[in-house]
Amino acid sequence: MKRALTYIVLVFSLLMTGNASAYTLVIDPGHGGKDAGALGFISKEKDINLAIALEFGRLVEQNCPDVKVVYTRKTDTFIELDERARIANRNKADLFVSIHTNSTAAGKAGTTARGTETYTLGMHRAADNLAVAKRENSVITLEANYEEKYEGFDPKSSESYIIFELMQDEHMKQSVKFAGLVQQQFATHAGRVNKGVFQAGFLVLRNTSMPSALIELGYINNRQEEQFLNTKDGIAKMSRSIFNAFKSYYK
Ligand SMILES: [Zn+2]
Repeated sequence: MKRALTYIVLVFSLLMTGNASAYTLVIDPGHGGKDAGALGFISKEKDINLAIALEFGRLVEQNCPDVKVVYTRKTDTFIELDERARIANRNKADLFVSIHTNSTAAGKAGTTARGTETYTLGMHRAADNLAVAKRENSVITLEANYEEKYEGFDPKSSESYIIFELMQDEHMKQSVKFAGLVQQQFATHAGRVNKGVFQAGFLVLRNTSMPSALIELGYINNRQEEQFLNTKDGIAKMSRSIFNAFKSYYK
């Protein structure tokens, strides 16, 4: 309930402030601290994610002075999934990028599976969001002067939700566009196998109210890919690829 209210307040404040403030990019290195993520032969997912996330952020800060970079973590610390989304919402992020490394169920046994994937929030989730928001938002009618307070927003009228649908649809389109650019860059700039763009209901993306994507850099239990992701060259190429994608998306 609190979450839905936060959501509606956030959407209203976005509508009212427009795009007066600087562009904010939230970078989310997956896992950290007691949560190592997937395990490879020579490394842990949390460390690969962090190294590439920090380098991506450094490139943005160096080349895009009008973009504010916010990290969900900059060190080896444990952050809850919900808190990652809250950081993005609190900072009124324009784009949320979560960085992960894949693994197959085979784990330490190793795999020949390889390639990068980028995920956006699934369609089913958008419909979910709307139904939940509609139900939860109706509590505002219990507040005095809600019509005045929420600028004539009627939680029971479908018309009031058209704006939500448009915004969710727009977020989805933008997320898919960014995800496609990331995958393209991984293939052309970093020479990776492009496994494509997919939709799924990732928890970390679920509570963010802006375009978002979750990147899987490759398979940590594929010896070659793990090796690559742990070299200076690999880190530079992967972070540069995400940066290139961001640059053309942001333009
Ligand atoms: Zn992960």
